[in-house]
Amino acid sequence: MSEYVKVAEIFGQDVFNDSVMEERLPKKVYKELKKTIEEGKELSLEIADVVAHEMKEWAIEKGATHYTHWFQPLTGLTAEKHDSFITAPKENGKVLMSFSGKELIKGEPDASSFPSGGLRATFEARGYTAWDCTSPAFVRHDAAGAILCIPTAFCSYTGEALDQKTPLLRSMEAINKEALRLLRLLGNTTSKKVTPSVGAEQEYFLVDKAKYLQRKDLIYTGRTLFGAMPPKGQEMDDHYFGVVRQRIAGYMKEVNEELWKLGVTAKTQHNEAAPAQHELAPIYAPVNIAVDHNQIIMRVLKKVASRHGMKCLLHEKPFQGINGSGKHNNWSLTTDDGINLLEPGKTPHENIQFLLILTCILKAVDIHADLLRESAADVGNDQRLGGNEAPPAIISVFLGEQLQDVLEQLITTGTATRSKKGGKLETGVRTLPDLVKDATDRNRTSPFAFTGNKFEFRMVGSRDSVAACNIVLNTITAEVFQEVNERLEKAEDRDLEIHDIIKEFAAEHQRIVFNGNGYSKEWEEEAKRRGLPNLPTMVDTIPALTTPKAVKLFENFKVFNRAELESRAEIQYESYAKAVNIEARTMINMATKQIIPAVIRYTTVLADSIHSVGSIEGMDVSVQTEILKKCTDYLREAKEALNDLTEVTDIAAEMEDGRDRAVYYQKTVFPAMNRLRRPVDELEILVDKKMWPMPSYGDLIFEV
Ligand code: ADP
Ligand code: MG
Repeated sequence: MSEYVKVAEIFGQDVFNDSVMEERLPKKVYKELKKTIEEGKELSLEIADVVAHEMKEWAIEKGATHYTHWFQPLTGLTAEKHDSFITAPKENGKVLMSFSGKELIKGEPDASSFPSGGLRATFEARGYTAWDCTSPAFVRHDAAGAILCIPTAFCSYTGEALDQKTPLLRSMEAINKEALRLLRLLGNTTSKKVTPSVGAEQEYFLVDKAKYLQRKDLIYTGRTLFGAMPPKGQEMDDHYFGVVRQRIAGYMKEVNEELWKLGVTAKTQHNEAAPAQHELAPIYAPVNIAVDHNQIIMRVLKKVASRHGMKCLLHEKPFQGINGSGKHNNWSLTTDDGINLLEPGKTPHENIQFLLILTCILKAVDIHADLLRESAADVGNDQRLGGNEAPPAIISVFLGEQLQDVLEQLITTGTATRSKKGGKLETGVRTLPDLVKDATDRNRTSPFAFTGNKFEFRMVGSRDSVAACNIVLNTITAEVFQEVNERLEKAEDRDLEIHDIIKEFAAEHQRIVFNGNGYSKEWEEEAKRRGLPNLPTMVDTIPALTTPKAVKLFENFKVFNRAELESRAEIQYESYAKAVNIEARTMINMATKQIIPAVIRYTTVLADSIHSVGSIEGMDVSVQTEILKKCTDYLREAKEALNDLTEVTDIAAEMEDGRDRAVYYQKTVFPAMNRLRRPVDELEILVDKKMWPMPSYGDLIFEV
């Protein structure tokens, strides 16, 4: 029998959260700290000293021996360096445990080994981490013992952002300022703060660890680079929302408990569409916390899998031909007094504030579709987007029937006079209650869908941080709000101006709205006619970061300066090239050392059989001969493809870092990888399973 867990008791037990602070800190200190957290007031060193001391005492009670500034450099992962609390031994040989305010608010890891995309060359190697006191510190327990983790931002010596958190916090300030200004103009005098709320749903795969360890591709790249489809894929839809098997259920239970202790609101779990694929969603939170929590979720998913003899795959497309994994980023704007600015109410046509905000977002997404697309680009996601399961690489907005209808009224007549109602859902069974139906059905094929009172951005890859897309969403929305604010401040008749803006934005940006099937070929063509950008691969998206339009946007709100944008673009090109290079080298290694030798062994067995069986009078060896012929043909094709791949990979390695090199990997190396994969996958089907040097797709996804 598994242990019985009292969720309310363990929730947040390892977090230095508000109630712990209120309980442990002197009243005056607590108040000062709250001012910093809520109003962004600067924290004095004196106060920081007291907070640090209490934080340390609390952490030591939880068993902590070390602390770390926990940050998110541009590797997409989190980084940390552990320092113990001990001080130099005294004369009596004893040590004290200490932690100062200075150590709490500022750290200084050597920045030189983190990607900086040129910022480092022109500036200094020094990097600083600064405490983000709006995201609570926590104690993490693992093999290293217990460690106090302090969420921090990471900047260069000259203040350039080297991480995900710094620009995210800047973008939160931008949207807060412009949204509040807009609310005031609309007559709201009470709200004091507007914060983006985000709930990030996380998809992942679980595979058996022993099998994982037999696949060099999974070990080195996180995805399979070879693999024939098993006889059964996901066509039966028998996994989606299916009963969670006991091994997985035990895993999910432990994941939840670990997350709850860390204050992460793990809420929903279920099997996903592909075999061995699952999902976890927390309850939404302020965006910087949601981003931190998503990092914690990814780490806990991996750590607990290991304990259960499994490996958690966070790659966007671990298996070709089977659904990949994404991260649905649910985004809305919430005031400190609890108003969701994306709540349409029952009669959206009467809700002027909502219509204004909605049309502002339409405009923002239309103008900066390329940036939003870029924010979801990573190497793994290239394999997923545009497949028959994930949103296409074209950005569009799904509004649903009800809002679409309101929008059409606005565009044609200038005013909306009615909203379509949901009505009752009749099941036709008397014993079932009649349900009130939503006014709009769901749409699973849209990259950016309005889902009741939030937008769901579905393009983000499962491995990626959700910071980038939220930086873009916050800033592009702030930009349109700013434009509206300026117009409203100048307008003689504000109500009339609001009315005009709604109509104008709705009419001018309706091309971004698409309510149909985003997976269809027709949509691709229609989108082209509408002039919407279609950026199929990561390399295609990177230039969006440094267009004059993007530089103006981000500099205006001090989210990124030009140097920071250019450095980010450079890092993207570099990381693309590095990732494809590792994949190509892994394929070369597997083909040379494992696959080709195995096929040669098998063809030898066939040849021996043809000889020995054939030597018996009247025996038919046509089957062996036919298989041998096929195998040797594919073997030759594979060897030729291998030679080609080796050649182009060597050429790429010699090229200088930058866009040309990334393009070469995409246009030349990548297709060469596919040419090697094809004959190898054919061979996998032909060769004796006992002789194939690695577990098959079937072994990996159906036998967890
Ligand atoms: P669905 O199943 O339709 O995608 P859920 O209700 O399961 O929607 O929510 C998915 C995610 O969206 C969860 O993380 C949830 O907390 C989050 N979410 C719900 N409401 C909001 C909101 N107003 N703003 C941001 N995220 C939200
Ligand atoms: Mg969802």
